[in-house]
Formats: sequence, structure tokens, C-alpha cells
Amino acid sequence: MMGNKKPAVLLEHYLKQLKLPTMLREYQAIAAACAKEGQDHIAFLLRMAERELLDREQRAAERRLKAAKFPVVKTLDTFDFKAQPGIKKTLVLELMRGDYLDARENVLFMGNSGTGKTHLATALGQSACAQGKRVRFFSVTGLVTQLLEAREERQLERLLTRLAKLHLLVLDELGYVPFSKAGAELLFEVVSRAYERQSIVLTTNLPFEGWTEVLGNERMTGALLDRITHRVHIIEANGESYRLKDARKRAKRKQNENP
Ligand code: ADP
Ligand code: MG
Repeated sequence: MMGNKKPAVLLEHYLKQLKLPTMLREYQAIAAACAKEGQDHIAFLLRMAERELLDREQRAAERRLKAAKFPVVKTLDTFDFKAQPGIKKTLVLELMRGDYLDARENVLFMGNSGTGKTHLATALGQSACAQGKRVRFFSVTGLVTQLLEAREERQLERLLTRLAKLHLLVLDELGYVPFSKAGAELLFEVVSRAYERQSIVLTTNLPFEGWTEVLGNERMTGALLDRITHRVHIIEANGESYRLKDARKRAKRKQNENP
């Protein structure tokens, strides 16, 4: 009586131990489907392995995406290239494929506020996640704050080691607010360690001339720029602010509705 049940119980036990949750969940359905279609054992096993692998890859991708801590989801589908004719779509599409990551090259988005720099940097980062890369998104000020805090707590080396394990650092918005001397030095440290080992995607509304003021030290700024721009793809977005344009369009629509 127990004889029929025992193999299934054992199998489920083994699948659990082997950490094959998808097989565990689906083996009965797959076995039934294969029996119905007259498939042999190898076809059955193949289907089981495929399902497990697919699920595993998907779970890993979700984990990577969560670990990257993007504040929002952005894709290229929602990016209107016509609204920003200065941005070369072909270059963005090429970068989305991720070859720059394998070459440890950087990407620099420069331009005015509201021109889609963060949108595109986020889309690049999320695409890298989907390609199996370890990614982390930071606002530049957020990263500097974390570095300063880590140093205070004597955890700096630990944080730097963690950062060094990433394939890609997305550093959003190097802006107008100057860093403290210590903050700038720590940012420089991250960029130095990434040089030729990791990729950095950086967005900024500062022209190169403005960087010294924010980083506070001409020689260090030179060294930092040198490392970031040694192998870099620069995307300049100097069109009109999309936010502004959008707001204006909406205001106009409202005006037309209530003349
Ligand atoms: P930036 O980082 O350059 O200041 P953002 O990427 O934050 O600009 O863009 C501001 C907002 O406008 C975001 O919600 C973004 O998704 C949207 N946006 C900007 N440019 C475009 C565009 N060309 N097409 C679609 N949405 C855009
Ligand atoms: Mg931005």
C-alpha cells in the first residue's frame, strides 16, 4: 500500500535537498505531460532541467535587480528620442547591449536638468542586471555620505570591498553642491579602484570646467577625470528639459479645455 507513495515522498525529499524547487513543484505535471505525448525519459529530464534553469535565472535576475537599489524602473521603450535629438539613439542602443561592461568602459551622461540622463542611466543599469551583471545605483551624494559614515564606523574597507565586487556602478548626479575634502577624497578612491576593473555610468549637469569647484581640488579632479574619461562613451543631452516641456504641454491642454 505504501509502496506507491514512497518513491514520490523520497523524490520530493531529494529534490528539496538538492535545492531544485521548480522540479519539486512541477515534476508531476511534467511527467503527466510527457506520458501523454509519449516522450521518453531523456525528454522528460530535459524538460525538468530547462524549467529549473529558467526559473533559477529569473530568480537571480530579480535578486540582482533588488540588490542594485534603483529608485525607479526605466526602460528605453518609454524614452522619446525625438524629444532629445542631441542624444544618438544608435549609441544608446549599442550601450544597452553591454559590451562596454566587458571592456570596463565608462559612460558619461552630461547635460542640463530634465534631459533624461537619469532615465537613460537607469535603463542601462537595469539592462546590465538582466545580462547577469552585479550593479549598484547610487546618487553621488548618497554614495559620499555612505562612504563618510562607513569611515566613521571603521567599516570603510568593508564597503570598498563590497563595491569592488560590482560590475557596474551607476553614479547619479554629480551636481553643484561641493563635497567636503574627505568626501571628495573618498569618491576619488572609489573611482580609482574602479579604473579598468569596473564600469561607471555617471550623470552630471556640470560641464568639465565645473568639476574642480565641486571636488575642491584641482589635481585630484584632474586625476579623477583622467580615470573616468580614459575609456568613456560620452552622451550629451543639451536639449530642453522634458519635465518643463511636459508641464508646458499639460498647461496648454488645460488652457484649451477651459478657454
Ligand atoms: P535628468 O536626470 O537629466 O535631470 P531625468 O532622467 O530625471 O532627467 O528626466 C526627468 C523626467 O522626464 C523623468 O521622469 C524621465 O523619465 C522623463 N524624461 C526625460 N527625458 C525623456 C524623454 N526623452 N522621453 C521620455 N521621458 C523623458
Ligand atoms: Mg538626473
